Formats: sequence, structure tokens, C-alpha cells
Amino acid sequence: MNSKQTDLIDRYIYLINVILLITHIFLLLTFYYFHVTILFRYNIFSVLFYLCCFLILRLKGKKLFLCLAYIEIFLHMLLATTLIGMNSGFQIYLFVLIAISFYIDYLDFKDSNHPQRRMALINLFLIPAFLVGELLYFQDKKPSYPMTGADTIMILSNVNLLLVFFALFFFLFNYSEKVMQSEILLKKEAQRDYLTGMYNRLYMMPKIEHLNLKKHRYWIAILDIDNFKLINDKYGHDCGDYVLKNIAAMIRSHIASYDACRWGGEEFLLLGKLPEAGNGQVGLLEELRREIKNKEFTYDNQKIRVTATIGTAVYEESMSKNDWIRAADDFLYQGKQNGKNRVISQGFTKNE
Ligand code: GH3
Ligand code: MG
Ligand code: MG
Repeated sequence: MNSKQTDLIDRYIYLINVILLITHIFLLLTFYYFHVTILFRYNIFSVLFYLCCFLILRLKGKKLFLCLAYIEIFLHMLLATTLIGMNSGFQIYLFVLIAISFYIDYLDFKDSNHPQRRMALINLFLIPAFLVGELLYFQDKKPSYPMTGADTIMILSNVNLLLVFFALFFFLFNYSEKVMQSEILLKKEAQRDYLTGMYNRLYMMPKIEHLNLKKHRYWIAILDIDNFKLINDKYGHDCGDYVLKNIAAMIRSHIASYDACRWGGEEFLLLGKLPEAGNGQVGLLEELRREIKNKEFTYDNQKIRVTATIGTAVYEESMSKNDWIRAADDFLYQGKQNGKNRVISQGFTKNE
């Protein structure tokens, strides 16, 4: 995830704080209007608290903000339902608590790299305990500030519902944005070869699968470094890696002409489009083969030369995609059998 996306996602948490602040301003005015003194005073504290949260978010981060907000919302819900009664609808804020606790678990997971469920489990016990406790409490008691009038109760509970909806909406929006972004990132990482920085099979296979072979003519080529095991044996594995990275860079320097990936080990797969009939790709591949052959690699003051064999096949209608790849592989095999350091395709052999 780049820093721009992280910034954007982080801004949602500020938006959540704004929603919680607006919620408490609304509640402050409501309780002032209905003379519910305790809740009016509590909401003065809440409004000040959410104003301070902008600073907390900036200085201490999201986790502390969410933990404090959780406590504030829980206490408010407890006070409001106890003082005004359950029909005021304040228990609906428990949904915001659930969203916050999953968010805290997620942040804990990011800090520790281990799945975390602490807050979710706390909720699993706390919320039912709260509801049962309130129901038992009201069995022999009446609310201290009962709301009268069906209209008042209906308006208050629906405004609560709307505020909870907004809070949940942005929590889930933020959360799903994070999930989507990290999935994109993981996909991208999984499609890259760590050594050469090239794409790997995971990128190339779907690419081949989705080619429109009816519309255009395509070719593929498999390039395999010759006697690569000897390089590892003679100069060491690190030197082998160095050569692989450099050959990958040479392949990438022609990337405007084709798409390429590290197919595995010391093999690369190239995929290109043909403008007209014939085996037009062979000239290009021959150029690449020569470039590799003429390159002198220097590793630890040792001069190293390598060659590569390339098998290439143009797609034909009768072929399946696997047949097509196999055809290129078969030509590569023929090239290896016939002295290596050459480009082989249907009816076409090039070497020095
Ligand atoms: P041929 O000309 O027939 O292709 O012979 P070769 O030695 O190149 O082929 P072989 O399949 O016998 O050996 C391939 C070697 O490539 C063996 C393996 O250790 C090496 N190899 C595969 N991946 C890597 C890698 O990431 N780094 C290094 N240094 N070596 C690798
Ligand atoms: Mg090989
Ligand atoms: Mg090889």
C-alpha cells in the first residue's frame, strides 16, 4: 500500500471521530432540552473528549483513540439506558462497540503479526451481560428520567439509529478498504520474483489464459541459461544469482517488444504479439541470445560468460494453451540436444 492510500484510509478514522463528535453534540442538546442533567453533563465531557481525540489521533495513534472511544460509548450507553429506559434505543450503540472492538483487534494484529481476538471476545460476553443486566434492573425499577410521548421516543431512537448507521458505515468502509488494498498488494507481491524483480508464473499464467488468440497472433519463447549448474558449482550460488539478475535485466531491456517472466529456476518465458505472418519473433530472440553470449559478467574479479538456448512457438488454432507452451519447451529441448546457444522454432534454427 503506498503512502497516499494509507493517508486516505487514515483520514476515514478522523471522519469517524467527527461523526462521534456530532453525535455527542446532538445528544448534548437533546439532554439539555429534556433536562436530563446527568447525561447533559456527561455529554459536555464527551464533546470535549472527542475534540481532544483529534490530538490523541495525531499524537498517539488510532489504537488509543479507539480504546478510549469504546469506553466512552459503553459508559454513555449504560448511563442512557439506565436513566432514560430501554425504549430510548440507546442500546443500539452496542453495534458501534462491536465495530470498534474488531478494529482494535485488527490493529493489535498489525502490531504483533498474530491473529488477535481479545476485544471481540470481550464483547461476546460484555454485550449480552449488559443487556441481561439492564433487563433485570428494570424488573423492579423505573427509569429516573423516563421519556414521555411516543413521538419523542420515536424521534430519539431513529436519530440514534441514523447516527449508528453513519458510524458503522465509515468503520466498515475503512475496514473493507484496508482489506481490498492489502489484497491488491499481496497479489502484486505474489506475482513478483524476489530475486530478479521480474514477474513470475502467477502473473503469466492468467495472462496467457486470457489472451485473445482469435484476434491476434502471439508467440511465446522459453529461454534457459546453458550449463547454469556449472556456474553455481564453479563460482558459487551467489554468483549464480548475480548472473540470473543480470540476464533478467537484459531480458527486461527489450520489454517493449514482449511481456516476460521468470518461469522458474534459470528459465524465463517471453510472450509477444506478431504483426504479420511468419516467425517474426526469431530475429528479436536471436538478438537477445547474442547479447547474452557477448556479455562478459564480472563477479569477484572473475570474468564469466554464459549462453542461453531459446525455444519459441507461434500459437496455432489446433493447440491448447498447454500444447503451445509444451511446443516452445520441446523446441528448447531440441536446442539443448543440438549444442545449446541457439534459437529454435518451427522449421527455424539459428545459432553461430
Ligand atoms: P542446461 O544447459 O541443460 O540447461 O543445464 P543447466 O545446468 O543450466 O540445467 P540444470 O537443470 O541441470 O540446472 C539448473 C540449475 O539452476 C540448478 C539450480 O541449482 C540452479 N538454479 C535454479 N534457480 C536458481 C537460483 O535462483 N539461483 C541460483 N544461483 N541457481 C539457481
Ligand atoms: Mg532449466
Ligand atoms: Mg539451464
